[in-house]
Amino acid sequence: MQIKQNIRCPNCGSEAERYYVLSSQLIRTQCHSCDYLMVMCSRTGKVIEAYAPGLDFKPTKAIVASPVVDHKQHLLPIPASNVH
Ligand SMILES: [Zn+2]
Repeated sequence: MQIKQNIRCPNCGSEAERYYVLSSQLIRTQCHSCDYLMVMCSRTGKVIEAYAPGLDFKPTKAIVASPVVDHKQHLLPIPASNVH
């Protein structure tokens, strides 16, 4: 017997499925969108099998990094006619 639960894929964020296999005390998480798979023991929490495509989890650096903006203003020369 197993219990099915709809979850969000930790890899791609799409709808994924989690199965609680009661007979073997396994928790199986799988995503059809990105082929994510994780099988873990529900009693010990030990990961038995795990597969995630494109494991290059990008850190939040992209948000922090901003384009370099040159704040130097180009000073216009004061016209000589304004000087009294
Ligand atoms: Zn996924």
